[in-house]
Amino acid sequence: MLLKGKPAADALIDKLSAYGTPPLRLAVFHPAGDASAESYLKAKQKALARLNFTMELISLEKNASADAFFTALDKANRDPGIQGIMVELPLPGDIPAHEVNLRIDPKKDVDGVSYHNQGLLYATREERIVPCTALGAVLLLEHYQIPLAGRRVLVVGRSNIVGMPLFKLLLNRDATVTVAHSRTPDLSRLVGQFDVVAVATGKAGLVRSVDVRDGAAVVDIGINVGPDGALCGDFVPKDDKEADRIHYSPVPGGAGVVTNAVMLRNLIECHRMQQGR
Ligand code: NDP
Repeated sequence: MLLKGKPAADALIDKLSAYGTPPLRLAVFHPAGDASAESYLKAKQKALARLNFTMELISLEKNASADAFFTALDKANRDPGIQGIMVELPLPGDIPAHEVNLRIDPKKDVDGVSYHNQGLLYATREERIVPCTALGAVLLLEHYQIPLAGRRVLVVGRSNIVGMPLFKLLLNRDATVTVAHSRTPDLSRLVGQFDVVAVATGKAGLVRSVDVRDGAAVVDIGINVGPDGALCGDFVPKDDKEADRIHYSPVPGGAGVVTNAVMLRNLIECHRMQQGR
């Protein structure tokens, strides 16, 4: 089965629209001129419009200073007209991502990067503000009723924004989770031992169709630009018939679509927290 993102994203957005949340505003710090960030930005705008939410764009020039950036971030933190903040990567040269995680208001932290929200994720089973992409991947699997409890799941990638939170979300769902990374030997052989494989590395074609066992599911979170300029994932199916043998999410049109629906969910959750709910 093809795990398309749109039905899962639509189901979540339908649920969210029933809340009748007033129009919210998301501040996005955006690296000017970065082609991939540019495409993420358009997708965010489209998703926000579905709930009549708006975006305040704060463009970061390549030579933006840390001082100017943190002044703008503090302003967004204080601004009562802004309910959520996202800082897109890559940050200009001398801005430490670590400082962003320390400084962003946890109650406006739509991508769950603040250490407060990371602490809540790893130290509790509460899932209030969780990195959008990681939660999106899990919601995609749940939408298609791919069982997780008691299943062996391989997460390939261990970044703070995708692999690590995904590991914890899967553990919360009682999966038995293994995390692979660039120093893991013989990934190809390892892949065949799992019921579910979630891959987030940014390495096109890293997980090979031939290694995935019959009936397993692959959630492909990677977004790469292929030699022909087209987007592709970290998993490349052998051919169209692979969807009869295994379950996998396409790129584009898979996990990435759900990420933006989760962004809306998190923005609403931020608004609730600001109201003390
Ligand atoms: P990072 O570069 O931060 O992390 C990549 C991870 O992949 C690292 O943990 C790295 O291991 C691991 N890795 C790299 N090469 C290999 C290898 N050969 N074998 C096994 N593991 C490997 O990337 P992100 O986590 O930020 O993003 C990953 C992908 O997901 C990218 O393609 C990105 O574009 C995409 N993405 C998609 C989003 C969406 O909305 N759908 C949002 C965010 C990201 P090590 O730690 O050892 O270096």
